[in-house]
Amino acid sequence: MPEGDTIFRTARNLGRALIGEPVTLFRSTYPLLTRFNDDTPLAGQIVDRIEARGKWMLIYFSGGGILASHLLMNGRWHIYRHGERWQLPRFHMRIVIENAQYQAVGFRVPVAEMHTARSLERHPRIPRPQNDLLGPDLDLNSAVQRFQAHPRDAIADALLDQSLLAGVGNVFKSEICFVCGLNPFRAVGTLTDDESASMIATARKLLRANVLEDSGDLIVTYRGQQRRTTHNSDPTASLWVYGRNGEPCRRCGEAIRRRIQGGDARVTFWCPRCQPMPDGVEIDG
Ligand SMILES: [Zn+2]
Repeated sequence: MPEGDTIFRTARNLGRALIGEPVTLFRSTYPLLTRFNDDTPLAGQIVDRIEARGKWMLIYFSGGGILASHLLMNGRWHIYRHGERWQLPRFHMRIVIENAQYQAVGFRVPVAEMHTARSLERHPRIPRPQNDLLGPDLDLNSAVQRFQAHPRDAIADALLDQSLLAGVGNVFKSEICFVCGLNPFRAVGTLTDDESASMIATARKLLRANVLEDSGDLIVTYRGQQRRTTHNSDPTASLWVYGRNGEPCRRCGEAIRRRIQGGDARVTFWCPRCQPMPDGVEIDG
């Protein structure tokens, strides 16, 4: 599952290929997009802006249309020069946007909708800009309030709730809890405002570190021995707890634990010693 940092980097790369250039061709296998393009041809329009909003990507065209896509598990956007061979089979193609130099191809993009500024604002699932962890408009105080409005949710589940805070996926969820020393099964209501604020600030810091210009596709939260540029075949080598069930905690040596958590049955990793339950708080489930 691409996390917010992946979508952010994808949007940045697409932006470099498409922004400011007139579209020369638009194609899609989605009938609604094709119909939109028949009525209001995108060819000849300029791509004004590309924005990552949590796990959504928004492409703004000069005619006012906004293409919103969500990559879910397997969706990918690739950029090719004309004539370059595609790295995925043609039948996975869902959307193609071309300009004089490049082809941007959306493969297996499962959700793609054309919006206006107004319909985008009303969209129930696309996060508001002020909820986006990687956006410039994140409002920390209101994010804390949104969290506190769900006092019974476990911290880890609340971190994944894109309507509270957009951008955290399952890997970052466990890593954020570890870095903050918070037990992922604790209820949000047991956190003070300061603890919530510091957790959200940590979430933003970890995600931001993974969208720096030199960051690769690997999620890095732990930079123990190797540089981030090292090509390590084991993606958990750059993480504190995620994927490290039974291995020693990098801080205290205790065995890392793993458990399925939440309504969506997502896996959670944590160190029972570094992330204890506070006295008197029960782990549920
Ligand atoms: Zn530990």
